[in-house]
Amino acid sequence: MSFAELGLSDELLKTVEAAGYTDPTPIQKQAIPSVLMMRDLIGIAQTGTGKTASFVLPMIDILAEGRSRARMPRSLILEPTRELAAQVAENFEKYGKNHKLSMALLIGGVQMGDQVKALEKGVDVLIATPGRLMDLFERGKILLTGCNLLVIDEADRMLDMGFIPDIENICTKLPPNRQTLLFSATMPPPIKKLADKFLSNPKTIEV
Ligand code: AMP
Repeated sequence: MSFAELGLSDELLKTVEAAGYTDPTPIQKQAIPSVLMMRDLIGIAQTGTGKTASFVLPMIDILAEGRSRARMPRSLILEPTRELAAQVAENFEKYGKNHKLSMALLIGGVQMGDQVKALEKGVDVLIATPGRLMDLFERGKILLTGCNLLVIDEADRMLDMGFIPDIENICTKLPPNRQTLLFSATMPPPIKKLADKFLSNPKTIEV
């Protein structure tokens, strides 16, 4: 199966070609059509499998199509570490550069000022670590009611780092009828429980 058969826009296919990708990886083949159909998804995959593009590419098309005047975030990607969040943000910039989407990288260890300014200008995507996201939310700086697409990436590392209560808390602030994608290298019982609680009729992909 080629990239052209996955349902991505022509614009995005050009981006993929420019990135030098000739064929989709197994997780991309399975995840991209399903994400575009707005299904919830559990992706059991390690890093290095092309996992990031498997959610970033369809998200870009979803966000570009559903552009609205409302200047509030329409999607949220949660990452366990600042480094991973920064990497996903780089991917988003690289793949989304022709789509005029805006994003805010909300991570700890840096001053909040610029992050707050970005939020005030209005962004399409939040890429965040749970601690900083909750901090900004509690200060009233973020509206999550328009976030119809949530990605919980590296869920097993979130568990190791003690972030599950934060994630549960964040999930309750988002619209209940949103689309949720959960990625994890392994599926220990607490992650299964999280998925049961916050995903609806997910498709499970294991690569
Ligand atoms: P990830 O698993 O998301 O960390 O991606 C691992 C690496 O694979 C990244 O450097 C991507 O740029 C690259 N990559 C992602 N998708 C493809 C693809 N379809 N063909 C070749 N390389 C890819």
